[in-house]
Amino acid sequence: MSFADLRQFLSHLEERGELVRVREEVDPKFEIAGYIRKSSDTGGPAFLFENVKGSTMPVVGGIFGHRRRAIMALDTTPDKAVEKFNVGIASPVPTRRVTGGPCQEVVHRHEDAELTRLPIPTYSAKDCNPYITCGMVISQDPETGTKNASIYRMEMKDERRLGILCSAGHHLGMQLAKAEARGQPLEVAIVVGVAPATLMATQWEAPYGVDELTLAGALLGQPVEVVKCKTVDLEVPASAEIVIEGRILPGVREMEGPFGEYTGYYTDTSPKPVIQVTAITHRKDAIYQALLTGVPTTENHVIKMVPLEASYYSMLKARFPGVKAVHFPGAGGAGLMAVVSMRQHIKYEARSVMLAVQSAHRNKIVIVVDDDIDPYNLEQVMWAVCTRAQPDQDMVIIPRLAGGYLDPSSKERDANCSLGIDATRPFGQPFAEVATVPGLDKVPDPGLRG
Ligand code: MN
Repeated sequence: MSFADLRQFLSHLEERGELVRVREEVDPKFEIAGYIRKSSDTGGPAFLFENVKGSTMPVVGGIFGHRRRAIMALDTTPDKAVEKFNVGIASPVPTRRVTGGPCQEVVHRHEDAELTRLPIPTYSAKDCNPYITCGMVISQDPETGTKNASIYRMEMKDERRLGILCSAGHHLGMQLAKAEARGQPLEVAIVVGVAPATLMATQWEAPYGVDELTLAGALLGQPVEVVKCKTVDLEVPASAEIVIEGRILPGVREMEGPFGEYTGYYTDTSPKPVIQVTAITHRKDAIYQALLTGVPTTENHVIKMVPLEASYYSMLKARFPGVKAVHFPGAGGAGLMAVVSMRQHIKYEARSVMLAVQSAHRNKIVIVVDDDIDPYNLEQVMWAVCTRAQPDQDMVIIPRLAGGYLDPSSKERDANCSLGIDATRPFGQPFAEVATVPGLDKVPDPGLRG
């Protein structure tokens, strides 16, 4: 079973008590964020806000508020999620063009395409404006035509303009640079409300030129059906809730931010590209998808965990077969810290693994542990760090590496220092034995006793 669109997944969540309807009026300014924040912090459900102040459109939020729902979105179990993700995307499935679809039941063009038609929330206290945080931006390379789909933060500047954070290293930024070199705008389609697996597919670290919608098709087990946009030469998932069409204006930069980012701070208030909206299309009864950003751990961390872990697992496993698992803890914003568990086959192999991760843009703190340590359990990980590593021998600091994007402690923009910790026992040498209590398998679960 896979969830072909957002609605199928919402029904599934509601049946399992993982989605709660909120019938009281909520304000898209801070109040929706407040519900998601509290629920994220307490392991609570997602919400369908049916009565949103100033809008007839309902809002769903908190879908990725807990890792278990990301696992549900992939229809798998926690221990199989990474493998399922990697097997899923191994055989990309081309999109299938269809004529017309629910996402274009209502069409607003040009002057009529006002962003104020959408209940775009404001999340953190000092956010400069409402932000689209769960918009999948579809675009194509102006030279080669290869497609891209990913999620970027977008500030609603006024009725028909959005600011967007896409840096030179982002695939969209690379396309924009090519368009600007020709003095041309870059067309975009911002898709809100798609299958959760499709959103997760965009978070896998696909090489430039790979259309993430073909990875989504592989994960979904069927081609993503796409329709042609109304005012731009792009294709979008037919079953989407809402599509905003527009153009990134060449050479235009306007101040964007502040905005509460994944690191938990307001970072990167600076001039950024601007999108001129040319159309908004949506379902008759469209649902807008909110996604909370900010202090870990919440949606913007959870949505990328499994895809990132899958990216790094396959990258490392190809060279180091002893790698067992990779985790990007929420504590690091699912980006500034990586933990790898492995069984070494040769001396110092853990250090090679450590350097491979340190050199791959997710590098600020990299910890390698033995395979008896659960990398998802930071208590266990830090036990290994405290008892299997010595700072002068097993920790390596590399200054000035690319990465660290939006880390407020970075001394230099888009650069970070990296700490690697080899917390594995020395290969092939005697080491203190772990103390264990025998016969644990015969002791009943204490939670089951009366
Ligand atoms: Mn890409």
